[in-house]
Amino acid sequence: MQTIDKYNFAGKRTFVRVDFNVPLDENFSITDDNRMRAALPTLKKILNDGGSIIIGSHLGRPKGPTDKFSLKHILPHLSDLLGVDIQFANDCMSEGAAMKAAALQPGEVLVLENLRFYAEEEGKPRGLADDAPEDEKAAAKKAVKESQKEFTKRLASYADCYVNDAFGTAHRAHASTALIAAHFDHDSKMFGYLMEKEVKAVDKVLNNIQRPFTAIMGGSKVSSKIDIIENLLTKVDNLIIAGGMTYTFTKAMGGEIGLSICETDKLDLALDLMKKAKENNVNLVLATDTKIADSFSNDANSKFVPVNQIPDGWEGLDIGPESEKLFGDVIKQSKTILWNGPAGVFEFNNFSHGSQAVGEAIVEATANGAFSLVGGGDSVACVNKFGLADKVSYVSTGGGALLEAIEGKKLPGIAAIEN
Ligand code: AMP
Repeated sequence: MQTIDKYNFAGKRTFVRVDFNVPLDENFSITDDNRMRAALPTLKKILNDGGSIIIGSHLGRPKGPTDKFSLKHILPHLSDLLGVDIQFANDCMSEGAAMKAAALQPGEVLVLENLRFYAEEEGKPRGLADDAPEDEKAAAKKAVKESQKEFTKRLASYADCYVNDAFGTAHRAHASTALIAAHFDHDSKMFGYLMEKEVKAVDKVLNNIQRPFTAIMGGSKVSSKIDIIENLLTKVDNLIIAGGMTYTFTKAMGGEIGLSICETDKLDLALDLMKKAKENNVNLVLATDTKIADSFSNDANSKFVPVNQIPDGWEGLDIGPESEKLFGDVIKQSKTILWNGPAGVFEFNNFSHGSQAVGEAIVEATANGAFSLVGGGDSVACVNKFGLADKVSYVSTGGGALLEAIEGKKLPGIAAIEN
């Protein structure tokens, strides 16, 4: 497989798929540029080699061209970050866009307009009513798949080589994230540095495991994490269940959970997961105590109680000190750690102590040589809130992509480069 480090981009035009899907405020100022910064090593390597770059990205979820989601808003900041002028093509398909790409000189950068302005990027028909006749839907789907081939070919024609550095969209089989790779030979397509790091981090927790391996699954719902939990049960030594999903397990075991968040249709599933853990010799660790509140608010009255004795009218919003110690002891003895989802409602300062304690235990284990991967959902916001992001081994930039990778799925954006 080709690698970005080995490749010499001198004199080449490179199509780089990045994830510049950054949040913008009402004045179109970027409020968090982490995703842009994450792509800089790749972009700089290409420019330093003497190559030129055609940047493709999506921004938001537009249903067609709209000023709000134009990538023109990010150009000044990209120019500041890279220290070069940035050219812009206000579409992706016109002769004008093709000519701008063809005219690129070494060291120059062209940003194409938001790829998702085109239905062909995602390969899904647009503007069809939900109740449209099935044959009409099928015909529209076939038509967009056909035009997607032309779209993809056209994007590929702008460049001599292809770099995918957009881990956040690697779980999508879109034109610019996966399909385009087929237009380049093996030696001319590769991961960017960010993508390489993400792939390595996932590999460490899925295939290259130092034991004991502990996963901490938190967040609100079991239902959104079943596939991951089932996959992890074949891999981990310890599985810590934290956060809102705790109470589905507690209730399944006959405990009193008051008003705590609970998926009553998943009680059997919770018992089944417990059984599977036993069969696989996995130490399933559940909270024993909880910090309860008399309303869902930071300023609610609160107290600590055993997790299965929550009075009527109260709800569990964080783990208690006993559970913090229980979780912390397991985490600190681990050599590989995966953390997905907070241990409580960490957004409320009065109910964030448990999530912070989990984060700090992971930091301690990491300092003692463990490999720790944090990612998916709110986990990244959580480590950022407590200032722990640079004290764990790796914080993933992928939400859905990371979770699908952990579920054991082959991500189309990765497969397209590897195959
Ligand atoms: P997820 O997106 O599934 O990772 O869930 C993250 C969300 O779960 C965060 O916004 C937390 O506030 C929420 N959460 C964690 N623990 C609880 C809890 N005990 N009750 C309600 N929500 C919770």
